[in-house]
Amino acid sequence: MNLAEQQRRAYLDALGIDIWLPREAADPMPVEEAALQDAAAVPPPVGGDWESLAAQVAACQRCALAESRTQTVFGVGNREADWMIIGEAPGAEEDRRGEPFVGRAGQLLDEMLRAIGLDRERVFIANILKCRPPNNRDPKQEEADACREYLNHQVALLKPKVILAVGRIAAQQLLGRDDPVGRLRGQRHTVDDVPVVVTYHPAYLLRRPSEKARAWSDLVLARRVFREAA
Ligand code: URA
Repeated sequence: MNLAEQQRRAYLDALGIDIWLPREAADPMPVEEAALQDAAAVPPPVGGDWESLAAQVAACQRCALAESRTQTVFGVGNREADWMIIGEAPGAEEDRRGEPFVGRAGQLLDEMLRAIGLDRERVFIANILKCRPPNNRDPKQEEADACREYLNHQVALLKPKVILAVGRIAAQQLLGRDDPVGRLRGQRHTVDDVPVVVTYHPAYLLRRPSEKARAWSDLVLARRVFREAA
């Protein structure tokens, strides 16, 4: 209510004149309207086909990363792939190009895939987060939670035979565990009936090339898991 209206009502009140208001104006907020406002605060449900999911991700405002991103990074690859690769979050280069794993870590990921006879045309690559966290900090739990429905729906649409989770964040978020990669790798996990194999993040392997042998054995395990599922 503006000041003039306040003054008008005070004046009429002082004169002992009842003020008749339309119902909507008299009520603090009609119940239906309040419910609609509450509904607007809850993000719309995620669903539909690949195109509509991609559009929902592109328009996402579920967390504060929407303010700082250049663009969302939905994921790339074959939407009928048997293999899904899940990383952590876009970095600076990915944020600029709108594609996951395009930097040096991406080149190593490509080499890792090639080592087991795969390439980007035969896998689908996505991240836990669709937006870049500023300064490449770790994703916050609330950001991962806000993004999870998108990832779950990507998995539901793709129906991969195996998921390769690369790095600690991807593995922990996907599996809902907080063990280090060293404890999660080297075994077959399952998420929503989909087999999951964990390995080191290629960015970590660039820093610790001596771990490449372990990563190789994870890839061999993932290939075996895939063959069993195929
Ligand atoms: N690291 C990730 O985990 N994902 C990317 O898309 C790029 C780097």
